Amino acid sequence: MADSDIEQLCRHFDLPLRVEGVTGALAATGTTGTVGIAAPADEIECFSPIDGRRLGRVPATTPADYEATMRRAVEAAHRWADVPAPRRGELVRLIAEALRQNLNQLAQLIALENGKLIGEARGEVQEMIDIADFAVGQARMLYGRTMHSERTQHRLYEQWHPLGVVGIITAFNFPVAVWSWNAFIATICGNVCVWKPSPKTPLCSLAVQRLCRQVLEQQQAPAVFQLVLDPGTRLVRALIEDRRAALISFTGSTAVGRQVAQTVAARLGRALLELGGNGAIIVDDSADLELATRAIVFGALGTAGQRCTTTRRVLVTRSRLDELRARLVHAYRQARIGDPRDPDTLVGPVIDQNAVRNFEQALAAARALGAEVLVGGRVLPRPGHYVEPAIVLARNDWDIVQRETFAPILYLIPVDSLEQAIELQNQTPYGLSSGLFTRRLDAAELYLSHRGSDCGIANVNLGTSGAEIGGAFGGEKDTGGGREAGSDAWKAYMRRQTNTINWGSTLPLAQGIEFKVPP
Ligand code: NAD
Repeated sequence: MADSDIEQLCRHFDLPLRVEGVTGALAATGTTGTVGIAAPADEIECFSPIDGRRLGRVPATTPADYEATMRRAVEAAHRWADVPAPRRGELVRLIAEALRQNLNQLAQLIALENGKLIGEARGEVQEMIDIADFAVGQARMLYGRTMHSERTQHRLYEQWHPLGVVGIITAFNFPVAVWSWNAFIATICGNVCVWKPSPKTPLCSLAVQRLCRQVLEQQQAPAVFQLVLDPGTRLVRALIEDRRAALISFTGSTAVGRQVAQTVAARLGRALLELGGNGAIIVDDSADLELATRAIVFGALGTAGQRCTTTRRVLVTRSRLDELRARLVHAYRQARIGDPRDPDTLVGPVIDQNAVRNFEQALAAARALGAEVLVGGRVLPRPGHYVEPAIVLARNDWDIVQRETFAPILYLIPVDSLEQAIELQNQTPYGLSSGLFTRRLDAAELYLSHRGSDCGIANVNLGTSGAEIGGAFGGEKDTGGGREAGSDAWKAYMRRQTNTINWGSTLPLAQGIEFKVPP
C-alpha cells in the first residue's frame, strides 16, 4: 500500500491523522472540529487490515468534549425541530450530493480501513446515497392518522414529533452505511445525531463527519451531526446512560447489545437493537443449484464473512448434497484472496488478529466434534489478516454451529426434508436473515408462512445478504427486534402524540360516562 494513497485520502477528507516520525503536513493534518483536541493518551490507533500496518493516530473525544458535544446536541435539537420536515429533507439531499461527489474516495478509505472489497465499499457508499434519497421523500410523508371520534364535534388524530437527541453506536463491519440508515432518517424526523463509531474504523467516520459538516456550514444549519470517538467503552457507556439521548440505536454483537438494552431500559429510554445473526440458506430437492451456489458464495464470502447477514449455514436436502458440495468447493477454490482494492480479489482480509484467532478456534472446535473441513481453513502467512474461507460438513446442533463466528466459515448441513430444514434453521438464538432455494410454489409459501422462517428477513431464490434499503431491516430473538432503513422504520425516531380537539360547546365523556359536576 503506497503511503501516497493514504496521504491523498487524508488530505482529501482533511483527516487529523498523526503519523509518527512524520513532520509537516500529515503529522498535523486536519482540523479537529466537533472532535475535541486530545492529549496523547486520548488517541485512537488506526490500522489497515490489508497489510496489518499502523496508519497513525487520531484524537479521541475527551470526557469534557463529550459533555460539550451533548450540550451542543441538545441545543441544536431545539432549533432543528423548528425547521419544517421538507426543509430538513433538503439538507439530507445536499449530503447525498456530497456523497455522490466523494463516492470513490470514501470507498477507497473504507477498503483501506475496513478491508472490504472495493466493489462492496462502493456499494456501501451507494447505500448511504440510497437511504438519503429515501429520507428526502420520507420527509414529506411523516404521516399521522385521523380517526373518527365517538364524541360529537370532536376531532381525534395522531401526530409525530421529534425525539430530540439520538445516540447511534455502530459496528466496524459497516463503518458508514449503518450510521446513515439511522442518521438520515433520524435527521428528517427532526432529531440530532450523536455518533459513536467502532474504534476499528475512526477514519471512515471522521471522513463522513467532515462531508456532513461542510454541508451544515454552507447551509448555516444547526449542528445536527455530532461525533464521539471513544477508544474504549468509557464514553459509550456515558452515552448509553445519558438521559439526554432519548433513543440509543445500537448495532453490534448480541453480547454487548444485551448490556446496552439493560442499561437503556433501566433509565426507561428507548433502544433500537441490530445485533448478531446466524444466517441460513435452505436448498430443497427442486432448487436451481447454479443460482443457489452463486447466492451462497456471495453470502458466505462477501465482506470476508463479516456481515450480520452472512450465510453461515446451508441446510441441504440429502439428494442434492453431493452436487452442491462439489459446486461450492469448486467455487471456493477459484476465489482469489488478497488486496481488497484489486478488482480481481473475491476475499479480502478479516478485520484484525482477533478475528483470525476466532476463525482458528471455531474450526478447531468443529474438528474436535468430528467435523470434516471440505476446503480452506488455513491462515495465510502474509502481512495483513488473511484466512482461507472454509466449508465444513457439520451438524446443526453443535454449539459452535449455533454461535456467530464473525469470519468466513460455512457449515454444510444435510437434512431429510424441507420441514426439518425449517426447524433446524430456526433452532438458533438469532433471527436475522434467511433464504430458501426452491422451484416449488408450496415450499416457498410454507417458508414464508408463520410456520416457516422465524427471521426478520426471509427470501426465496435469493441469498441472506445484500438487502435493499426500501424494506425494514432487522431481526428477531437475539438479533434484538429492531427495524431500520425503509418502510415505516422512521417511526422509531419519533414520538407519537394523540390529540383530541373538542370544537363543540358541551363536554361529552368517552364511553358515554355520565359525570355530573355540581353547579
Ligand atoms: P461489537 O459489539 O464489538 O461493537 C459494536 C459497537 O459497540 C462498537 O462501536 C463498539 O465500540 C461498542 N462497544 C464495545 N463494547 C461495548 C460495551 N461494553 N458497551 C457499549 N458499547 C460497546 O461488534 P463489532 O465486532 O464491531 O461488529 C460485529 C457484530 O455486529 C456482529 O455480531 C454483527 O452481526 C453485528 N452487526 C449487526 C448488524 C445488524 O444490522 N443486525 C449490522 C452490523 C453488524
